[in-house]
Amino acid sequence: MTVVPNNKLLERQAARAEPKLSDKQQRSQEYRLAQAVPSLGAAYAQARARWIGDPVLRLVGVPIITECYRSAERQDELYRQGRSKPGPVVTYKRGGESKHNHLPCPALDVAFLLADGSVSWSGLLLSKFARLMKAADARVCWGGDWRRFKDRPHFEV
Ligand SMILES: [Zn+2]
Repeated sequence: MTVVPNNKLLERQAARAEPKLSDKQQRSQEYRLAQAVPSLGAAYAQARARWIGDPVLRLVGVPIITECYRSAERQDELYRQGRSKPGPVVTYKRGGESKHNHLPCPALDVAFLLADGSVSWSGLLLSKFARLMKAADARVCWGGDWRRFKDRPHFEV
């Protein structure tokens, strides 16, 4: 039996608990990030790096881009949700009206991959991430700051 020093054991446990993207998830993240306009992409990359560099935040979850560019057809599909289709209203923009409908794209949506593999849209985590995004680039607007329709996963320039 080998005796592992306590701090080594803790390090191993932390490494095990750390949320990690699969290669496929990593590729789709790179693909989505590449759709963003350079200023937004750079702000996201910097905010993400700061998040990952924080010993506590990195164990809570890792930021992921759930969507950047979306087609006008997909936007119309989302618009129908909560109106002619079941589900909550998720957007007030029709196809072509959203910043998500441009390429390169000035908008992206963020969530967090947790250690158990689930995805979180925690308002607390998103507001923490929003602070890092705004610190990275003051031109970044966070949907959580909007008065009429709070869209916490949403960031745009
Ligand atoms: Zn959005």
